Amino acid sequence: MQENNVKRIVIKIGTSCLTHENGKLNYEAIEHYLKQLVELKNSNKEVLLVTSGAIGAGIGELKMKLPCSMAEKQGMAAVGQGLLISLYNKILRQNGEIGGQVLLTSSDLKEKNRYENIYNTLEVLLENGIIPIINENDTVATDEIRFGDNDTLSAEVSSLINADLLILLTDVEGLYNKIPCESEDDLKLINKVEDITPEIEAKAGKKGSIVGTGGMKTKLKAAKIINKAGIPMVIGPAYKNNIISKMVKMIENGEKYNIGTTFIPGEKKCRREKSN
Ligand code: GLU
Repeated sequence: MQENNVKRIVIKIGTSCLTHENGKLNYEAIEHYLKQLVELKNSNKEVLLVTSGAIGAGIGELKMKLPCSMAEKQGMAAVGQGLLISLYNKILRQNGEIGGQVLLTSSDLKEKNRYENIYNTLEVLLENGIIPIINENDTVATDEIRFGDNDTLSAEVSSLINADLLILLTDVEGLYNKIPCESEDDLKLINKVEDITPEIEAKAGKKGSIVGTGGMKTKLKAAKIINKAGIPMVIGPAYKNNIISKMVKMIENGEKYNIGTTFIPGEKKCRREKSN
């Protein structure tokens, strides 16, 4: 049996898994995710959380009508990000842990000095046992400097810090052999993807929800980024009990891929160096 050592794990959670339908933060669900992160830390793993939900929580708090303009979404993110981080820290502290907020735009990762600074900051947080809680800096990100979705952001962060595993938690089981909303006939979960072919990309459909921006398309974009860095990625259902540690065990055992969809990478590379 092949054993993979999974030490550093990035976990991204989508808006629909963090909020109720009315946009209010789902305390119970968030507590369940954070307790799993704490368990992993207790078993000597390093965990980084990439969270969505800022815009959604802001919209829910202010009962804004959808659709919103970009400026309105950015304003809502200012409200929602505060709500999110205070809830995360409240729950983490109840469980003996501390979270550290890191807000990024894509231009932060394009310039060598800023890239190095972010790497150093994340390393310091991890060395000090703090759980980095990362989101896009939605209030300032304009089109030119936006990641636009946290799937891409989490893949970029995973390659930056040379993670061993990226987990994308979402509200479906994983990638299916066809787009589920188009037809349920012969619908099957794809457990393992070794090559992101045009056929695989065609199974992703187009977009996510109105408030979140993801969907399968951006998850496959993330898979391509992470694949190049030689890091495995699993897409799976946030709503299942103890799903995170089950996914970690599955990757560590490297044997049966029976939860969600695992993207198997090529050989792991050392940390990518910025050339500019
Ligand atoms: N950064 C956005 C938020 O916190 C989410 C982006 C996404 O849905 O991927 O609301």
